[in-house]
Amino acid sequence: MAREQSSGAGSATRPASAAGLGAQQAPRPTRPQQSGSGRGGPPPTISGGSRDTRLQMDPVEKARRQMGYRNNWHRKEVDHANQVKWPEPLGPNPRVAIIGGGMSGLMCARELARLGIRSTVFDTGKHGVGGRMGTRASGESSLRSGTGTTAASTKAAAAQLGGLVFDHAAQFFTVTDPSFQSVVDDWLATGLVRVWEGPVGTLRAGAGAFARLPPSPPRYVAVGGMRRLAEALGEQLEAGGGSSLVEFRRPCWVGKMQAEEGRGWALSGEGRSQGVYDAVVVAHNGKCANRLVGPTGAPKVAEQLMRLKLNAVWCLMVAFDGPLPVNFEGAFIQGSSILSWAANNTAKLELKHTPAGTQCWTLFSTNAYGQANKVPQENIPPEVADKVAAEMVAALKQAAAGPEGSPAAAAVAAKWPKTVFTRVQLWGAALPLNTPGTPCILDPDSRVGVCGDWLSGGSLQAAAVSGITLARQIAGLRGKTQDQLAPFRLGLEAQFKPLRVTDIGEFPH
Ligand SMILES: Cc1cc2nc3c(=O)[nH]c(=O)nc-3n(C[C@H](O)[C@H](O)[C@H](O)COP(=O)(O)OP(=O)(O)OC[C@H]3O[C@@H](n4cnc5c(N)ncnc54)[C@H](O)[C@@H]3O)c2cc1C
Repeated sequence: MAREQSSGAGSATRPASAAGLGAQQAPRPTRPQQSGSGRGGPPPTISGGSRDTRLQMDPVEKARRQMGYRNNWHRKEVDHANQVKWPEPLGPNPRVAIIGGGMSGLMCARELARLGIRSTVFDTGKHGVGGRMGTRASGESSLRSGTGTTAASTKAAAAQLGGLVFDHAAQFFTVTDPSFQSVVDDWLATGLVRVWEGPVGTLRAGAGAFARLPPSPPRYVAVGGMRRLAEALGEQLEAGGGSSLVEFRRPCWVGKMQAEEGRGWALSGEGRSQGVYDAVVVAHNGKCANRLVGPTGAPKVAEQLMRLKLNAVWCLMVAFDGPLPVNFEGAFIQGSSILSWAANNTAKLELKHTPAGTQCWTLFSTNAYGQANKVPQENIPPEVADKVAAEMVAALKQAAAGPEGSPAAAAVAAKWPKTVFTRVQLWGAALPLNTPGTPCILDPDSRVGVCGDWLSGGSLQAAAVSGITLARQIAGLRGKTQDQLAPFRLGLEAQFKPLRVTDIGEFPH
């Protein structure tokens, strides 16, 4: 299948107006044809109907429009007659577009490369790839990617960062899957991750009662912060320059995909063509994903994306001018309507560069608090940020103290340090509340697949296994004729079940 040349690497800035993407066009109703355009064999079979193009102006949509994003497909429009079927088998050297550079997209690219398949990873991240493997540093020292450095030690990463450091999404991960364990063993051997041995457990709010969890399964943390791990994975994939099988385009928001007869999937983003691909992997979740896939010709994939429900979690990055009077480094908070998790980054990441005595903590809200205080996440009003920060710190203080009026509570209050830095982030589409319980989704007719944490749970492991599995399925499609595709059809009919272990994901801890 022929492809057009790509239009440059990922340094594109977002256009002030994305008018070029404004009119999301549906694949034209096309009768099956017998011969191709000459560039890439026969055209796909596409059928389709008319659709409503009105915009739904919910807060997220509004924020995206303010940022110059356009996408006018909305939920009720899945049209089952609108199914793309590529008539020719997938060739021996396909090119795959991976939309999303979080753990699932990175692991999908890694596995595709291992199997000799070329891919292009698109990601919106301004500071780097990684998605919800996020780390932030205060002031001007936000982590950057693409610098070609790999954290050899915490000290090196810290020297590069300076200031205060916070993992602001994934905190640690556990492993039960053998294929992921072998990847993690490599990361351990090369110093990208290590085992977090500090006290992690549960804290009963108001009782001040911390119960330490057993050390097994090991809790892995990324040396220097989660973003460093994502960056290192990206650097490994890009190593080899021109001979690398993985190309990154970042920041690049893919806003449209369209089946083109005789060519493949044409992607657009940042106001221009982003190339044509033989298969597309959607490696992100949420509204954005179902809007991208919805009008394209993979209706069953779109329907599964539409069934996903996500929680909302506030993250507070907070620094104190002294140590908190607590006996844990990480705690799942129980019995609080506001807080679900608290972690001491200074201890967890072994930060040595923070001003003497300063401690950097990451606090996560409950889903209930996230929903009750939801605002457009790209545009948080300052008064909401202040309120959320104050309430979350107060909730931690209250959770750590013993029963009200007790000597223990008075001691905690007396020793409580001063807050010297706060920054909030709302994860508006944080973690899945339901799951189809399948490692990935693949529609082999249209060659559109989905990977991500939500397909089998909400964790880094679920995301990694999903990406690896989807890559293997796509590789298996090579050379298969239409009557041989059945074993590759995955997750399209899987029923969703509720998922709720903790507000920050489903993983053994
Ligand atoms: C608050 C919080 C705490 C968590 N804590 C833990 C934990 O302690 N342990 C654990 O195991 N897991 C935890 N998780 C879950 C873990 O972070 C996720 O399971 C995992 O990172 C998901 O990876 P992913 O690849 O599926 O998606 P993501 O990481 O979300 O990656 C998707 C990527 O796609 C990009 N993207 C989206 N749309 C487009 C587009 N149109 N074009 C281009 N790029 C696009 C996004 O920018 C993003 O980078 C936590 C999550 C949250 C939110």
